[in-house]
Amino acid sequence: MESYREQLIDGELVRGHGPEFESINPYTEKPWAVFTEADEGDVDRAVTAAERAFESWRKTSGVERARLMNALADVIERDIDRLAQIETNDNGKLIKENRNQILFAARNFRFYAGYIDKIAGEVKTMDAYTSFDFTVREPIGVCALITAWNSPLQLLSNKLPPALAAGNTAVIKPSEFTSASTLELASLAIEVGFPPGVINVITGFGSTGALLTSHPGVGKISFTGGIETAKRIAAAAAANIVPCSLELGGKSANIIFEDAPYEKAIAGAIGGVFAAAGQSCVAGSRLLVQASIYERVVEDIAQWASRIKLGDPTDAETQMGPIAFRGHYERVLAHIADALEDGSRLVAGGHPAALGGLFIEPTVFADVDNSSRLAQNEVFGPILAIIPFDDEAEAIAIANDSRFGLAGGVWSKDVTRALSVAKEIRSGIIWVNTYRTSAAQAPSGGFKQSGYGRERGTEALLDYTVVKSTLVDLTDTVRDPFVLGR
Ligand code: NAD
Repeated sequence: MESYREQLIDGELVRGHGPEFESINPYTEKPWAVFTEADEGDVDRAVTAAERAFESWRKTSGVERARLMNALADVIERDIDRLAQIETNDNGKLIKENRNQILFAARNFRFYAGYIDKIAGEVKTMDAYTSFDFTVREPIGVCALITAWNSPLQLLSNKLPPALAAGNTAVIKPSEFTSASTLELASLAIEVGFPPGVINVITGFGSTGALLTSHPGVGKISFTGGIETAKRIAAAAAANIVPCSLELGGKSANIIFEDAPYEKAIAGAIGGVFAAAGQSCVAGSRLLVQASIYERVVEDIAQWASRIKLGDPTDAETQMGPIAFRGHYERVLAHIADALEDGSRLVAGGHPAALGGLFIEPTVFADVDNSSRLAQNEVFGPILAIIPFDDEAEAIAIANDSRFGLAGGVWSKDVTRALSVAKEIRSGIIWVNTYRTSAAQAPSGGFKQSGYGRERGTEALLDYTVVKSTLVDLTDTVRDPFVLGR
């Protein structure tokens, strides 16, 4: 059993003062690593260290901050195989997927390192140059960064690099299911020389997260996870009047028109929902298909789904690993039972896989009513709901009939059709003739109950800043002190 009992607080790896807890490898279903919960004192020490470090980090030159961030990216890339294996031990996702996501994390560090010297304010002249205003984007302070279990380092890399680039310090609380890779990142941060307190990592459950989000020293909260937790976090942010960004779930519509690039669209639909065993916030879990090609698509998707190779996530041939933990496995099976009860037509899968363990067959339901539970609730598992539509207007109406608004896809060779439909979809990310691709420069985030705030791109960087307006008067005029100067 690996020991990850130490947390990073104020530049040192120190043992948490709460009870120990284990991470279970979802493929072997055996514990593989042990951690400690941070107690109230640990959380307080981490936030206090981050507050102290903020005073020097915000004044550290951009060149030095960028150097450290690039150095961290270098060692992430150097250790890619080890880090990918650790994430696979924790969440059971394919090692090749985790590898790619962690390389993307390194890319995010480099992207924001390169942005530090491009953070600019504006000059607003007033009264013919005799007075003017200039704005600067200042860092906020200590950022509480809380992540989910499905993509630990990638999710963290949407938060930590823009926070550091803007001059903030951080206290990170990874998911209790996947703490190991974030603790490894903490050790790498020490190795490359980040000053004590700039990056802190505490581990534990929701109770530890709640201690962090309610700490008065926290200046901003960034959260990735589920809606119910988000409501608690938004309430904690409101109690201390701190900004908060919420990256939540989805029930994204992937729309295939009759003039789609067919083979590409089918592959995109399969990857959209079965990659990472569907444990992806942007999963294209509703597949909307135009009536004229509906039966053909249903048949092709069902056949492909039943051919997906399940197995050891470290095997290069495996296409789908297990569900990340038993509680979630039970939830995914309950969604299948709901869909059957609601009368959806099962065309592939529908059962625990013959392989046993935490494997579930890639499952496809056709003729799904968009008001049914399967179409309205996020499953976060390998379950696809296929829904027919007649024309653009109906596709848009079905896609938007959801409390979520995270992502979506449109497949059509007609660029006018594709873009006009994309424009009408109420979600933060839309892919046209592709699905589940991302870039450091492309912002992502939700509409509606998929959350607010943006990650990646310039937008995320600005979310970690606060604007200061400095008004300067160059004249010798003595103003009437009792009226507002304009
Ligand atoms: P979760 O809400 O159960 O937990 C997320 C994190 O919040 C964990 O670290 C957890 O310990 C912590 N937490 C729990 N209660 C807390 C509290 N009261 N105060 C502070 N922190 C608390 O979510 P999960 O099961 O880990 O993740 C799955 C969800 O995340 C899905 O809905 C998925 O769609 C979403 N997700 C969204 C994105 C995105 O970018 N939009 C990405 C990945 C996952």
